[in-house]
Amino acid sequence: MDSFEREAWKVVETLESAGYEAYLVGGCVRDRHLQRPVYDYDITTSALPDEVIALFPQTVPTGIKHGTVTVLMGEGQYEVTTFRTDGEYEDGRRPASVIFVRSLTEDLARRDFTINAMALSRDGRLHDPFSGLRDLQDGVICAVGDPLKRFEEDALRILRGIRFATQLKFTIEEKTFSAILYEAQELGKIARERVREEWHKMLLSTPSVALDLLRRTETLRYVISRPPSFDLQVNDPWGRGVDPWQLAGEWADQAPADLPLRYGIVLTALCLEEARIDKVLSDLKLSGALKSDIRRTLRVVKLGNPADWRDTFWRQTFYQHGQDAVRRACLLYAILHDPEHRAEWETEVATRAARQPIWSLQDLAVNGQDLLAAGIPEGPEIGRVNQRLVQWVLQNPEANTREDLLQKVQEL
Ligand code: ATP
Ligand code: MG
Repeated sequence: MDSFEREAWKVVETLESAGYEAYLVGGCVRDRHLQRPVYDYDITTSALPDEVIALFPQTVPTGIKHGTVTVLMGEGQYEVTTFRTDGEYEDGRRPASVIFVRSLTEDLARRDFTINAMALSRDGRLHDPFSGLRDLQDGVICAVGDPLKRFEEDALRILRGIRFATQLKFTIEEKTFSAILYEAQELGKIARERVREEWHKMLLSTPSVALDLLRRTETLRYVISRPPSFDLQVNDPWGRGVDPWQLAGEWADQAPADLPLRYGIVLTALCLEEARIDKVLSDLKLSGALKSDIRRTLRVVKLGNPADWRDTFWRQTFYQHGQDAVRRACLLYAILHDPEHRAEWETEVATRAARQPIWSLQDLAVNGQDLLAAGIPEGPEIGRVNQRLVQWVLQNPEANTREDLLQKVQEL
């Protein structure tokens, strides 16, 4: 048991000593059983939020309205939530209100899937009224209660189900699957940020499985782009007789779990035009940084086969687009066109990056002061000279010395 888990049990113990019920619950119980790493321990308790706050020296009222208090204990943070059922739902979004209850079983009943509806007590007893353990052993994603009703309450559960099926390589139970098909259009009501978070977890897991499930459940259009913005049927741009969505998944599986790279692969596989790519990225409300990493990568991809690049072109590309974009684009190229030599490509990029003379203006061996001292007048002329020096150094990497550059300035 690591210290993270030990502290979680301490939180449980503190609650119990004060006379409340408390359990580890949800994802951490599931992942412990699967021997997967646990990143967050959730605790469910009969104590009300105020009672939780009173028991621990350091707490943050993260979601008081929903009964959640974050307890800071040792190095860790633990979400402690009062047993509750969800009140009325508005439009398949979050519940408008919650009702605190005093029974664990009622709390477990509001959870999405049987594998997420188990609680563990300190004495090692598993509380599993919905047979989550059996489903965990059988590898099945099954809604708690009536799947139609549960997806109607909160359509995000549809994507969570597909995401768990992807991450755990589980199948989706038949009735749950039918309910997904039936309720899929409700995903249109879910905040794009919440959709994006689930999609990113799928993309970082096994994209081929995720894309296949998203297509079979007819939910892909609510993730990648909502209708009628574009037709998800792409014809066979790669001439391989294989659907490009399938290629997208298979290729993305091969890449390290890096969002910009996996996005780059999927968008390249689909051969979308730039305007459509922009639409997809802004529709998913990606952060500016992520969008820019993806666009940079795709710009380098457009430069064609890196095997044809000359030395100076490599240096110019590094300078203009940055090391990460070039690394991602070369890896993308290798995965799509030259998988047997992928390792060589990675070495090639690393070696060239290590020899790159300059990455930005600041890396030039002379600065603005030097140029003024050399007689270049203040103003736009300095900028022009700098650009000439940059190009000169990219063509002659060994020339990035103060002496050589000052001499070059004189020639200019
Ligand atoms: P992960 O942390 O890997 O995303 P998780 O199952 O722990 O998976 P969380 O979002 O951390 O997911 O939620 C913790 C628990 O809260 C879940 O295991 C589940 O019991 C419950 N839960 C979360 N979201 C929902 C939801 N939309 N509907 C019903 N129950 C939910
Ligand atoms: Mg979790």
